[in-house]
Amino acid sequence: MRKERGLAGLWQVPGWEKYDWLCHGFTTTSFGNLALHVGDGADQVIARRRQLADFLGFSLASWVCANQIHETKIVKISGAHRGSGACDLESALPGTDGLITDEPGVLLACFFADCVPLFFVVPERRIIGVAHAGWRGTVAQIASKMVEAIISNYQVSPGQIQAAVGPSIGKCCYRVGPDVAAQFPEETVERREEGIHLDLKLANLLQLEAGGVDHSRVYCTDICTCCSEQFYSYRRSGSQAGRMAAVIGINHVPK
Ligand SMILES: [Zn+2]
Repeated sequence: MRKERGLAGLWQVPGWEKYDWLCHGFTTTSFGNLALHVGDGADQVIARRRQLADFLGFSLASWVCANQIHETKIVKISGAHRGSGACDLESALPGTDGLITDEPGVLLACFFADCVPLFFVVPERRIIGVAHAGWRGTVAQIASKMVEAIISNYQVSPGQIQAAVGPSIGKCCYRVGPDVAAQFPEETVERREEGIHLDLKLANLLQLEAGGVDHSRVYCTDICTCCSEQFYSYRRSGSQAGRMAAVIGINHVPK
């Protein structure tokens, strides 16, 4: 049952299933809208979060959620943060777009509708992270800053880091104005007859690699959340689109 639901309802980074100490994934619409700020009643959203919590084996009391603002503040999470933002917006970590931890039994969660979810693991040291990279956060270099934060907080080398760029709006559907495009590297921008298309996944991938993460240790999906009905999309549905959750946690298993 868990496996079936896992295949149908939760996107996971191929290859990371081998880490038995790791719990991670990106929800599809089958888990419903998981964010508290887009119109659904809090009770309904909390009930869905509980369902996901049960499915993952991480109680809602262990979740840590950030109030994302398209900037680059990254917070090192400890056990004291457990429950922050799990059931209300007020207790979510303020103005934060990246979370890192080496604490077992904490589930880091960010919410998305087209923006890029970034996942990080340092397998040898059991360190994890997740970040929210929309176009503004990408311009502000959140992917590079996550790599730097992991290195400086845990004294690891960039070569030890594995990263993944998850389901998000693809170049196929992401048309931007010239003012936005001008802030991105040329290879991430494609000028077509009908307008300018931006490859946000590639922009983040380039930052990860520039930060020293080895190309072979970065997975980048080609799933477009706007093309695929399995995901919510801001572009497709507007500001009240449901939000998917990117979650990552360290299971309580003996080292
Ligand atoms: Zn698309």
